[in-house]
Amino acid sequence: MKAAVYRAPGDIALEDRDMPVCGDDELLLRVRAASVCGTDMRIFKSGHFKIPASTHRVLGHEVAGVIAKVGRFVSGFAEGMRVTVTPNIGCGRCKLCRRGYNNMCPNYEAFGISLDGGFEDYMRVPNIAVRGGNVFAIPDGVSFEEAAVVEPLSCAFNAFQGLKVTPEDRVLIFGPGPIGAFFTQLAKLYGAKTVIVAGITDNRLETVGRMGADVLINTTRTDLAQEIANISNGDGVDVIVTAASAPQLQAQALTLLAMHGRVNFFGGLPKGAKVELDTNLIHYRGLHVAGTTGSSNEDYARAMQLVADGQINVRDIVTERYPLTEIGKAFDSAFEGRGMKAMVVPGD
Ligand SMILES: [Zn+2]
Ligand SMILES: [Zn+2]
Repeated sequence: MKAAVYRAPGDIALEDRDMPVCGDDELLLRVRAASVCGTDMRIFKSGHFKIPASTHRVLGHEVAGVIAKVGRFVSGFAEGMRVTVTPNIGCGRCKLCRRGYNNMCPNYEAFGISLDGGFEDYMRVPNIAVRGGNVFAIPDGVSFEEAAVVEPLSCAFNAFQGLKVTPEDRVLIFGPGPIGAFFTQLAKLYGAKTVIVAGITDNRLETVGRMGADVLINTTRTDLAQEIANISNGDGVDVIVTAASAPQLQAQALTLLAMHGRVNFFGGLPKGAKVELDTNLIHYRGLHVAGTTGSSNEDYARAMQLVADGQINVRDIVTERYPLTEIGKAFDSAFEGRGMKAMVVPGD
């Protein structure tokens, strides 16, 4: 079988590998769709602390496929079942795992990071993932590609729940990428009064416009603060999400929030980045400043339901498709940010 193997920063090579062995308490997945995520791009560029130098790893943690083999001690799954696998596997024993936060477990394992991920024809699903509830049946009517993209949607959904968007709220989203498009749709679905998306690329802004954003602001041409003041009669916006990895946006977000405004710093920053915040804004305006990372299996199940019910459109987020043999092109297109999400389709 073919596998796209990360060997060092900047180096992903297509290798012929033996099929992974499916242990008695494991599953083997035939990968049908795996999307390229910002995390894959970050690892490709600068590595990951959980991938020691000289370790070879198959990246890709947004994965959907068909069960090709079921270990003889595994119940509840059958060959031919369409499934997705959530990437973050908790230890199952710590305080966070006990509370359902498998995404926050300090001793986590993750597909595409500490375990081989989806950029290969067949992916081994170890017992910790089977036992951890990380394997989900794909509902009828949801395609493999859509199912793969439920993972990033679930991360947006995790952040979104804490922002408590109501019909009176004006919502501002920084970053019109796939995550910004998910937040746009979630905010509309939950009845936000106005959804504003700010960014620097017109084609991506147009895409989120088609997904329901009410106001699109290209910040290279428009004074954002002035525009927000106009839209909100000087009040500011009630909810902000920073779905972009730019330190200055976090500081700016606080200045644009209305009384009792809520912000989620969704996009992580480069290691060591420090941001100066005016904490008096938090104090005197009663702001809520939050951050989230990843999603729990619970968030994931709910996000999958939204897609199965047709409430959130993930299909139009996938703008490019590449066979596994052209994984380099998939990464190139992701780095160029031409479209929204690039999908790797093994076996084609
Ligand atoms: Zn991802
Ligand atoms: Zn744990």
